[in-house]
Amino acid sequence: MKISAINRNTLDLLLEMGRGSHPREFAALLSSNNGVITDVNLIPGTIGGEASASVPFEMVPLHLGIVGSAHSHPNGVIRPSDADIRFFAVSGSCHIIVGYPYGPDDWQSFYADGTPVGLKVIA
Ligand SMILES: [Zn+2]
Repeated sequence: MKISAINRNTLDLLLEMGRGSHPREFAALLSSNNGVITDVNLIPGTIGGEASASVPFEMVPLHLGIVGSAHSHPNGVIRPSDADIRFFAVSGSCHIIVGYPYGPDDWQSFYADGTPVGLKVIA
């Protein structure tokens, strides 16, 4: 399934989660409906640290239809790290990073290889 868009409410929630966990990171998994990212799945046991966040994949219910991930960069640099790209490779095809100060434009989506990709925001 090609992911082409994200719901406005879902994006707002991700930015809010970034604000709420600052100065720590959060990480979550994303699921979609007809190519549109509609849901944020908080996984039990997700660890937020100042330098990294990790998701225990054995805790991910497979029926969630995970298409990618989202996490925050409290340092405001919206670019995947090498560790992020290793994480992207095992967690779907569409990945969102939100960064400090978590305003409406403080995010970017990426393919699993770390290439930026445009995502439409729909109401
Ligand atoms: Zn990162």
